[in-house]
Amino acid sequence: MNERRQLPSIERLVAAIQPLTTAPRAVCVAKARLLVADWRQHPAQMPASFDAMCQQLHDAVTQVVAPSLRRVINATGVLLQTNLGRAPLSAAAVTALRDAAGAVNIEYDIAHGSRGDRHRHLRSVIQQSTGAESAIVVNNNAAAVLLTLMALAQGREVIVSRGHAVEIGGGFRIPDILRQSGATLVEVGTTNRTYARDYADAITPQTALMLRVHQSNFRMQGFVHEPSLAELVAVAQQHQVLLVDNLGSGSLIDVAPFGLNPEPRIQDSLAAGVDVVCFSGDKLIGGPQAGIVAGRQRIIDTIARHPLMRALRPDKLTIAALHATLQSYVNETAFTDIPIWQMITATPEHIAHRAQALAATLPAPWHIRATHSTIGGGALPGETLSSWAVVCPHTHPDALAAMFRQHDPAIIGRIADDALWFDMRTIAPCDDSVVATAIHALTRASG
Ligand SMILES: *Cc1c(COP(=O)(O)O)cnc(C)c1O
Repeated sequence: MNERRQLPSIERLVAAIQPLTTAPRAVCVAKARLLVADWRQHPAQMPASFDAMCQQLHDAVTQVVAPSLRRVINATGVLLQTNLGRAPLSAAAVTALRDAAGAVNIEYDIAHGSRGDRHRHLRSVIQQSTGAESAIVVNNNAAAVLLTLMALAQGREVIVSRGHAVEIGGGFRIPDILRQSGATLVEVGTTNRTYARDYADAITPQTALMLRVHQSNFRMQGFVHEPSLAELVAVAQQHQVLLVDNLGSGSLIDVAPFGLNPEPRIQDSLAAGVDVVCFSGDKLIGGPQAGIVAGRQRIIDTIARHPLMRALRPDKLTIAALHATLQSYVNETAFTDIPIWQMITATPEHIAHRAQALAATLPAPWHIRATHSTIGGGALPGETLSSWAVVCPHTHPDALAAMFRQHDPAIIGRIADDALWFDMRTIAPCDDSVVATAIHALTRASG
């Protein structure tokens, strides 16, 4: 009862914050009502002072009128940071996005003045870059896998190695997705060793397909065995079941020359005789969030006809950005065009040079240190690339990191050895000067 009497009036709260915000009065009133109702119900959560109440209201109002999605500089050293939006887009993809923002012929055949097909825009460029007969694109790879299973295996059996019944992250688990699709999971082999004959022995008239899943975010070592793609293709063909390969990231480029563990390329999987591959648009492809389903024409047509296709279809912005990204592979300019490949192919010497040039302008105690970047984003687990960072030792590195997070653009680093680290490999070279300016501004502010 005592606390209830201390509730401020809506009028008083609104009058206090209106001079501090550009938000319309109606927004201030609506948010004040919600907060006061909340405090009435949970008096313990009511701030102690009127100023603190106004601050809370101001935050709530700001969330409505200011964009919550803000530009950040990824200085974490994780190339594909899922929490920071994974692959940064190429300049060509950004231009394509902007050009597609207005009216476009997404489902319009300009030559004939008639209705067109949304999927045709990407088909040729995916055919050309992967060697697939046909392809469709959906919102993300999780959707690609779900749609593929629903269209090809609903009410039937899907054979999966126990080593492939994995959790990808964000709650995406292969056994759950199979159940959702209406297919029955038939697990074969063991966690560490599965043979081609395990798959063959499990095939029944109820079998729709065999599903391979890339072990994206972990690595198994030691007493392990997996059948080769060629062996699995032979089993699938002999028993006339389909073979679906969920490649996760998938790559169109061989990563071995950059000192990374060899990954099967998308085109290798298709060339080996896999019927359908699924992969993400925003991992090692380096494009927008998307899921690509590529493979045999007849099977892709079946998947495209499934009613869920309409719910999962990509928008024009995704189509535009993905087309521009894949175009770079067709043009053989991926290394120069696509940021993720610029990051992977940057030599440690080049990164050291940038780090030195940046550090030379910085106040003490900033200096450069050797470090290792990781790929992240469910690609190449455990693999690292030698890199260089600008580093600031600090008694409270968390507080220092928080200051850089508040900066606009936010700069997100990594804390290790009582210091804040900004890994130069994941910072776009055009942002080096932005980082330098921020360090100078925040050093002045805190010094
Ligand atoms: C990343 C990943 C997914 C999910 O892809 P999204 O594009 O993030 O939806 C599914 N399967 C595997 C093996 C993955 O690595």
